Amino acid sequence: MTRQNHPADETTRATVDIASELQEAADKLRALAIAATHEGRVLWEVGHTIGSKTQVVVDNHERPTVLLEAWAKDREQVNEYLAAFASPAVALAVVGWLEAVIKSQRAAETAASEVWPGPADAADRNAWLSERVDQDALTVARNILGTLCTHCNGEGGDPDDPGDWDPDVYMHNPNTRAACSKCKGTGKQSAPDRTQGGRTDA
Ligand SMILES: [Zn+2]
Repeated sequence: MTRQNHPADETTRATVDIASELQEAADKLRALAIAATHEGRVLWEVGHTIGSKTQVVVDNHERPTVLLEAWAKDREQVNEYLAAFASPAVALAVVGWLEAVIKSQRAAETAASEVWPGPADAADRNAWLSERVDQDALTVARNILGTLCTHCNGEGGDPDDPGDWDPDVYMHNPNTRAACSKCKGTGKQSAPDRTQGGRTDA
């Protein structure tokens, strides 16, 4: 793990990877949202096809180029969900949110490198930075990238381990769970592995 000749790289790697991961997800989601938008139709709505009473989600009532049909038991709710959340406009808003998180992540990295500039400060710097990682944003990003650990749902804890019993509150403490066996507690699927600097493109 330690690369003695590159202290700067060593100290920033952990968090630089977070910002890059968020940026990769933002770029992918933006590209998908643009690709899914036809003639500027960024808000998809519940409707039905002409000549049919079957409820669907469309990008345009008269001339749909997107037509989503659900067969679930509660399909009206599925349609409402799709209309509320699948629209390109929502994806672009999520991109904006991710980029705001990236900005504050990078600002925190800059601040940390000023407060703890030396190689000897790496542990303190990374401890402070890891507390500032926006876990919700990371979960969203990993869903977009398809790298969220599906065993622990990105939480990092072993889903079969309730944690130590706390007799004071008569509850298990989830913070004491063992690390997820699939992702070793990172919440991220091990492949593709970008943590060592090299990329393994699928
Ligand atoms: Zn896991």
